[in-house]
Amino acid sequence: MNRRYRPLAPGLVARLTLDTDPWLSCDDCFRLVDQYVEELLEAPAGAAPDAPAMLAHLRGCPACADETTTLLLLAAEDRGLDPGVAVARLRERS
Ligand SMILES: [Zn+2]
Repeated sequence: MNRRYRPLAPGLVARLTLDTDPWLSCDDCFRLVDQYVEELLEAPAGAAPDAPAMLAHLRGCPACADETTTLLLLAAEDRGLDPGVAVARLRERS
């Protein structure tokens, strides 16, 4: 046996030990993301949708977080809204 110990990168340790409760799968995230984006765009200033499972998932899943951001940008542009406001609202929550 000649195994060498290599420490895990701090970012990887943080992701591996991230609290993912309440649990949401990528499939469920994909199913719910349209509604979540709608709620982000329609929320009054200073408010945001109450979606703890979605937030926990987006913190730990870069693929779904990127997809949510992209969808949010497209939806904001489609409505003539400032995408910066919507993205800031998403980032302050996740
Ligand atoms: Zn995911």
